[in-house]
Amino acid sequence: MLNLKSDVAVIGAGPAGSTTARVIAEHGFDVILVEKDEFPGLNNVCAGGTIKSAIVDAGLSSDIIEKEIQAEKYYFPWGENIIETDDLVTVYRHVFDRCLAEKAVEKGATMLKNHQIKDVSVKNDGVHLFSEKNIIQSKLVVFADGPNTLVYRKFGIGFKPESDNTFVSVTCEVKWENNPFDQCEFHYGENIVPWGYGWVFPRKNTVNVGVGCLYSKLSSNLIDSMNYMLGNYPLTGEKFKEKEILQRSSALIPAAPAKRTFGERTLVVGDAAGMVDPVTGGGIIHAINGGKLAGKICALSLEEEDFSARFLSQYQRMWHKTIDYSWIYHKFLASNVFLYLSRFDRNAYPKLAAITREGIGKLLTNIKHQRT
Ligand SMILES: Cc1cc2nc3c(=O)[nH]c(=O)nc-3n(C[C@H](O)[C@H](O)[C@H](O)COP(=O)(O)OP(=O)(O)OC[C@H]3O[C@@H](n4cnc5c(N)ncnc54)[C@H](O)[C@@H]3O)c2cc1C
Repeated sequence: MLNLKSDVAVIGAGPAGSTTARVIAEHGFDVILVEKDEFPGLNNVCAGGTIKSAIVDAGLSSDIIEKEIQAEKYYFPWGENIIETDDLVTVYRHVFDRCLAEKAVEKGATMLKNHQIKDVSVKNDGVHLFSEKNIIQSKLVVFADGPNTLVYRKFGIGFKPESDNTFVSVTCEVKWENNPFDQCEFHYGENIVPWGYGWVFPRKNTVNVGVGCLYSKLSSNLIDSMNYMLGNYPLTGEKFKEKEILQRSSALIPAAPAKRTFGERTLVVGDAAGMVDPVTGGGIIHAINGGKLAGKICALSLEEEDFSARFLSQYQRMWHKTIDYSWIYHKFLASNVFLYLSRFDRNAYPKLAAITREGIGKLLTNIKHQRT
């Protein structure tokens, strides 16, 4: 067993962890970024929709963009709606995450791949992280290890998975070279899932098709819902019927902000802290923005040599002042109201999605148009 030392150890090289590590390295501190897989993003399950400005802002080449998306198309039970976009793109996460991690390394972070952290102990004199190969000693630890985070199981902070705040999703990659699509589609209604939606996100040579549903609302097999989209669903089935499916996967999506994102010598960021839009399930940009803040607070803590929970609590206070958090929190409150309404209204989720996407005014106009 090797003994490694660093100022900060970041667990997980997704968008949250790599951004955190990059910012810490930019401040001139030692940081080890630990990833369980052979390379970042290898096993990530994602539709890969994000904003172009996130790629530019992170200094990544636009070559990694798979498709520039021209519009988002919403299929609600009461009608269709198109919103033009000029900043939405799709990427492959095994490419995007790898590039983000390389940026962190370029700035001075040390990357450990094929290292799964199995346990973490936080003591007065420092943090110890245990993998099968190493013990890493650090002054601070950042949990950026995604929705199945160790931190809640170990320390009771971060995202707490419960049936009413966790989406289950299944997705597949349909082979379609040089496909003609340049819109992201969102399909709502009980024929797809009772609380969630089905999506179609095109890349250059594949199309990502998937469905996600709140665990507590799951009434049938989610794979059947996805197969419906790939087969008999009139709006998508025809185009995918004969196509080759390259890969199927499933994953969880947190849909509630964590109550606490810090502890003694500890910060939590990204999905591990519930930094995800609880209606759409989108979390890449929030993970990056959370990572920037986590990196900054780690640097401050190292400069002040104060690793106490009291000092680190400013991370949560500052996060709560961001536009990201305000967006997530207000959508979380709205989804709780609509979850209650779903007892009486089978279209509660599509209405929630429409209202939070476009505002009440537009929704009412749509309903009016449909009636007239
Ligand atoms: C089906 C699906 C579709 C999605 N589509 C979109 C989308 O289109 N747009 C969008 O914005 N968001 C989407 N999301 C959400 C998005 O993927 C997440 O919000 C985002 O990846 C969060 O980034 P993260 O860095 O916090 O966590 P992750 O990306 O999950 O990264 C965590 C990293 O930690 C590593 N790790 C975990 N445990 C350990 C350990 N013990 N030791 C070492 N390493 C560890 C993992 O291998 C991984 O690399 C989707 C999610 C799902 C499930």
